Amino acid sequence: MAMVEISVEEIKASIELKLQTLFGRTFQNASKSQIYKALATTVSEYITKDWAYSKERVRKQNAKQVYYLSMEFLMGRFLENNLMNLEIREKVKKAFEELDADFDDIQSVEPDAGLGNGGLGRLAACFLDSMATMGLPGHGNGIRYEYGLFQQKIKDGQQVEMADPWLEYGNVWEVSKSDEPQLVHFGGELEYYHEGEQLKVRYLNCQCVKAIPYDVPILGYQSNLINTLRLWGARSLKPLDMGLFRKGQYVDALAEKELAEVISKMLYPEDIHEEGKHLRLKQQYFFVSASIQSIIKKYKNTGHHLMDFHKNVAIHINDTHPALAIPELMRILMDEEGLNWKQAWLISRKTFAYTNHTILPEAMETWSVELIQSLLPRIYDIIHEINERFSRELWELYPGDWDRIERMAVISHQRVHMAKLAILGSGSVNGVAELHGEILKKETFKDFYEVYPEIFKSITNGISHRRFLLLANEDLAREITERIGKSWVTQAEDLEKLEAYAKDEKFQKVLKEIRREKKKELADYILLHNEIEVDIDSIFDTQVKRFHEYKRQLMNVLHIMHLYNQILENPENGIHPRTFIFSGKAAPGYHRAKLIIKLIHSVAERVNNDKTIKGKIKVVFIENYNVTLAQKIIPASDVSKQISTAGKEASGTGNMKFMLNGAFTLGTFDGANIEMQQAVGKENMEIFGLREEEISKIRQEGSYRPDQIYEENPALRKVMDQLIDGTLEPEDPDIFREIYHDLLERDPYFILKDFEAYCRANEKIDELYQKPEIWWEKGIQNIAKAGYFSSDRTIKEYSEGVWDLKPVDPT
Ligand SMILES: *Cc1c(COP(=O)(O)O)cnc(C)c1O
Repeated sequence: MAMVEISVEEIKASIELKLQTLFGRTFQNASKSQIYKALATTVSEYITKDWAYSKERVRKQNAKQVYYLSMEFLMGRFLENNLMNLEIREKVKKAFEELDADFDDIQSVEPDAGLGNGGLGRLAACFLDSMATMGLPGHGNGIRYEYGLFQQKIKDGQQVEMADPWLEYGNVWEVSKSDEPQLVHFGGELEYYHEGEQLKVRYLNCQCVKAIPYDVPILGYQSNLINTLRLWGARSLKPLDMGLFRKGQYVDALAEKELAEVISKMLYPEDIHEEGKHLRLKQQYFFVSASIQSIIKKYKNTGHHLMDFHKNVAIHINDTHPALAIPELMRILMDEEGLNWKQAWLISRKTFAYTNHTILPEAMETWSVELIQSLLPRIYDIIHEINERFSRELWELYPGDWDRIERMAVISHQRVHMAKLAILGSGSVNGVAELHGEILKKETFKDFYEVYPEIFKSITNGISHRRFLLLANEDLAREITERIGKSWVTQAEDLEKLEAYAKDEKFQKVLKEIRREKKKELADYILLHNEIEVDIDSIFDTQVKRFHEYKRQLMNVLHIMHLYNQILENPENGIHPRTFIFSGKAAPGYHRAKLIIKLIHSVAERVNNDKTIKGKIKVVFIENYNVTLAQKIIPASDVSKQISTAGKEASGTGNMKFMLNGAFTLGTFDGANIEMQQAVGKENMEIFGLREEEISKIRQEGSYRPDQIYEENPALRKVMDQLIDGTLEPEDPDIFREIYHDLLERDPYFILKDFEAYCRANEKIDELYQKPEIWWEKGIQNIAKAGYFSSDRTIKEYSEGVWDLKPVDPT
């Protein structure tokens, strides 16, 4: 690519020129934000040129393409990632050195594109990275939220949510195509009529919204294929209702416009929890309808017949949120393209694939019949017909088995079940790790597995090892390359060559020094933002992820209280100093998760200010967890806490990022932890606690008595009592009482049951850390075996096993 050839001098010249033409400034009197824009514009112009060639190449080769439909894309920053992929990061840094400016300062001007909640959205982003790098024509389709995930501030130990107006100063990376809108219809009445043999449908009195595509180029590493992330923005069809305007009702005229545009205003902040709000359903149909319309339009331009659609197009639905794409494709194929039901259904099932992300019941998406019927009347009729036909098929298969037919129905109890719709309309259904895929087959979707066993799969998630190692831990990446060559950047499994260095004293020392440097940087950040001094020679023990009860941040903090009690009792106890790091957001309406954040702060206040423990343990909560912070925290962590209740974390991807950077994992036998342990060996990871089968059994028997565990374990009892005896918040001693009661009476996530094992696992970590030659050997082993968890491997499995997608010829 042309960009790769650019020289340091040319970069400097281009920045200066852009500053003049865009802002009428010189480098000396430009603001940071102007310099950022000048650089980003330079890069984006180079990209845009190649983008056109890239599209042309895909078209000429008539290559099959995949569209990844997702309500969330948690992209993080673009500039650094694009510079890395173009391999000009070093040159740009050099240019800034010569200009006597701090490059990191300039980069930090860019806001995170936080169009996602957590793992699901970040997975979509990692997939885009891998597809572009591997030369696979794969595009993202989503919503251009004006406000991304809220920014988290902590006030008096409590989470406070602030808006995230990430587009406030514009977005250099997007290209808006207001002249290529799609129209999306809501509400109104249907009128069916015949045109010859063909049943047709007319929409009366519906609300029509314009969907404007905003395209973002997606680069791969050293790849000359540039894919597209297409984000849809809602725009009112009429600029203003001039009728109202002339009548003097200016405000009403504006309000109507606002009503349409509110669709793409903001991301719903619930991670794995469905709200069932009217606007959320509108968002789903809005982006799905616009996407399917534009995909079909592009396909028709190739001149191929619609019956061959699936040979050129695969459409992936990321969880059930975009499942309305199935009836939407049916609608267009039948109502607008004149295909019959059987033809349209056949094409749908060959085109769509669906990934399930969680088995938590609160995440299972259903919508009331009434809502879908009123908002999307034609879509409802199609879903109804899908259900009727499926029920008749089931009746043939299981005559008289009403219970089963009822259980499997897409529409039951006046609700539409999106997962069932997604399964029926797709040719592939997958879980995101081995265990998760098995649970889907054996429990969650058991009935469907019996009818369609061939469509169920497990495809273990992965992460962009380029973003989370090459970019986030540059020095470590360089040291790795010096030893095993550069191939690992595109062939992550080659990291295995590092195994030869696991016992190498010099490399152990290098890893240790780089970790120390990263810890120093994080300690500086913590001092600046939290005003807490942390010891960089302490163990950095990290749990960063969304706050959810099943992830058990509560167990982590109860253990910290226990450790604190132990140190108070025996100040000479030989534990190695430890810094407990938390970061993560709670959904604004999730009271319990927010209370756990408060508890962490109360414990931190107490522990950090107790001089008698001489700083042996510190507790830090870093506010506003996002991708950029992940890139800062993870390479600085010694211990990775992945302690979800077994069976609850479908895969996890945070776990993989830590492993890749050589942290030691303390985790449960859950999600991808299981496969990580298989890859790296039992001795290189600490797995503790109940297994999924055990939990399942205890639940079935209904035999769990958390109060007995409380009675039998005095250390735990002490910690529990401290929740309610005023130790933590003397001014408000009842604040944590609900946690205490819930643990004693229900403990639905088995925190008390796993507590003892968790304490022992932590002690083991302490012992291991005090044997440096063993500790750092394990660190290297983890990096060496992390290659499997690259999203390149995941994408290879999807393209071969699900999408039937091949790389485009780069010439
Ligand atoms: C990777 C990532 C996640 C997912 O973390 P889990 O530990 O798998 O829940 C969430 N948020 C951000 C910002 C991430 O980078």
